[in-house]
Amino acid sequence: MILGQCPYCKGNVISKKITAQGKKIKLYSCENAKKEYDESDTYVYTADSTCRFRIYSNALLRWNKRSISEYEVKKLLQDGQTVVRLHGRKGTKEYFKYAIPHEEYGVSILWDEEVNEESL
Ligand SMILES: [Zn+2]
Repeated sequence: MILGQCPYCKGNVISKKITAQGKKIKLYSCENAKKEYDESDTYVYTADSTCRFRIYSNALLRWNKRSISEYEVKKLLQDGQTVVRLHGRKGTKEYFKYAIPHEEYGVSILWDEEVNEESL
């Protein structure tokens, strides 16, 4: 499923289900950013990859966001940002932040910017 255009190379960003470390997650990947296992079993970009833009749906797990949805990625690609809901430790105290695309990490959070919750 195509979610939008890559902000870096204008390729299609495609959603697919993958299994990573035994967990089923979604991968939102630019069609020009392909990875494969090389001879030494290292997961690397293929030789024909011209882009690095890939978002794993669990990229924000550290901030207790279990999964980034297709909807959020669509909005991220369309508007250049999306608002994500994050949680403090033990799932308490949720808060909102802007997420923007990041060429290498897929997505990054604007920690210094406040989200006006009334506008959500
Ligand atoms: Zn790309």
